Amino acid sequence: MNFEINKLLQEKIIPFEFVVKNTDLNDIEGELNKNGALVRGTIEKLAKGTFLVSFTVEMTMIYPCARCLEPTPIDCRYDYSDTVTVEDDVTILDLLPVVEECIYINEPFRVLCSDDCAGLCPKCGNNLNHEQCECDKFGDYDPRFEALKDLL
Ligand SMILES: [Zn+2]
Ligand SMILES: [Zn+2]
Repeated sequence: MNFEINKLLQEKIIPFEFVVKNTDLNDIEGELNKNGALVRGTIEKLAKGTFLVSFTVEMTMIYPCARCLEPTPIDCRYDYSDTVTVEDDVTILDLLPVVEECIYINEPFRVLCSDDCAGLCPKCGNNLNHEQCECDKFGDYDPRFEALKDLL
């Protein structure tokens, strides 16, 4: 979303609304679902080169579960309100980097598909939420068995 800076008048609050697609984002760990992110807010010129930008961004982000890697959709809603300053020679104010920064700083640290996700089998990589593998039954974590295997 671009604003022509010389068209923004001081003390005039201009509402905006736009959709950000996943392909617009570069530094975000999660992936936007196909609806993209809806950004709704206002921009106000405070002084020459200084703008107050406020918005809410709403979206469904898809993150791999920290335990089983299953893609897990998370509904997110973040608020942003801050001043944005631009250099004298800048004529277009692009809000996309501001939106990206807002999503970036709010990204969840750790996403789980469910609180009791069983994760992946450390031996064979099987997703233990779907089926139990046989790995546990052989007890080959025991170092004594490892030693025996070398003898066979
Ligand atoms: Zn999981
Ligand atoms: Zn296994």
